[in-house]
Amino acid sequence: MKKIAILGSTGSIGTQTLNVVRRHGDLFAVEVLCAGSNAELLVAQALEFNPNAVVIADESKYEQVCKALAATDIKVFAGEAAIEDLMTMDSIDIVVAAIVGFAGLRPTLKALECGKPVALANKETMVVAGSIVTAAAMRHKVPILPVDSEHSAIFQCLVGECSPVDKILLTASGGPFRGYSRERLASVTVEQALHHPNWSMGRKVTVDSATLMNKGLEVIEARWLFGVDANDIEVVVHPQSVVHSMVQFSDGSIKAQLGVPTMETPIQYALTFPERVESHLPRLDFADYPSLTFEKPDRSAFRCLDLAYRAIAQGGNMPCVMNAANEVAVQRFLGGEIGFLDIADVVEHAMQTAPFVADPSLADLLATDAEIRNH
Ligand code: NDP
Repeated sequence: MKKIAILGSTGSIGTQTLNVVRRHGDLFAVEVLCAGSNAELLVAQALEFNPNAVVIADESKYEQVCKALAATDIKVFAGEAAIEDLMTMDSIDIVVAAIVGFAGLRPTLKALECGKPVALANKETMVVAGSIVTAAAMRHKVPILPVDSEHSAIFQCLVGECSPVDKILLTASGGPFRGYSRERLASVTVEQALHHPNWSMGRKVTVDSATLMNKGLEVIEARWLFGVDANDIEVVVHPQSVVHSMVQFSDGSIKAQLGVPTMETPIQYALTFPERVESHLPRLDFADYPSLTFEKPDRSAFRCLDLAYRAIAQGGNMPCVMNAANEVAVQRFLGGEIGFLDIADVVEHAMQTAPFVADPSLADLLATDAEIRNH
């Protein structure tokens, strides 16, 4: 029985992780649940899964959660620092890192420093602090198990291989605006951006998928997870989202991992690795996909992808700058304050004007993130 801490339990990945736990009550128990501000859902989850402790990051909701769980033994904490504190609990066997954005960095790092294996969905952690996070995992000899479907696919292709990787082929659906010109992109709405053709996800990652920033973040995430130079990671647009990604080896052979688009498969694999366990999720029927197609991304219309390659090439705090600017720009876009194409402009402006730190410490990254958000 693996005892799981779920950071971001009320989100898209968090709730799908709980679906996996629900189906495999013999394998998993929930030890800790952490949410941002959705007190109602956190309470409902706590009543169903009976964890040892819950945390609500939004301190104004503390009383509400305490009151609702008063008749139980569940311990209730509030505030972001409490999430980090709970990572020291000996009873946690694995941490699912599914908080969205930069806010996930510190708890994820703390989990690794406490020797906990991490099932990583929060890609921003790797983007912002990949070298610090991977060094912490190595120092404490704990695995980072990818949850992102593309990275899970690459990980699965690499299992059993010891030969050098020639390149990684990172697939992208292309999002809701695949094929759009810049002129057409100028007038797309929030509602259209939130309508992803294949995946149902949180709002931030859905907008990132529409701008292709998501793929840029994933290139950086893959660079750190698999130790591959970013120039050896090629983005391939594959609108059906059936081939979750591929690895090409030095003899020219390519391995791919395929399946229907559902996050529950990579979540489950991260939780049961190195084993595979039964799943009743729908199977891929090739008859439903008479053609699987592949094309190059349109890098001039979707500029965020190149900005991400530029950020990782520059290194230092530049991916952190890019990420902070993107988080703010996406929020502003969702709030109707800026247009879709402004997102890339805001990110580029931040990257051009931010003070560069070549070898940032965690404190430098926290300072960079705060500065860029203020700016
Ligand atoms: P959601 O927006 O659906 O959920 C985010 C979760 O983080 C919620 O539980 C939210 O709590 C919590 N949260 C937000 N801010 C804080 C905070 N400051 N402290 C504590 N908790 C906080 O996002 P997703 O589940 O879609 O994505 C999560 C991560 O996984 C992202 O990094 C995303 O890129 C990645 N990912 C997501 C995929 C998907 O299919 N959804 C696929 C691959 C990767 P609350 O709602 O209670 O405020």
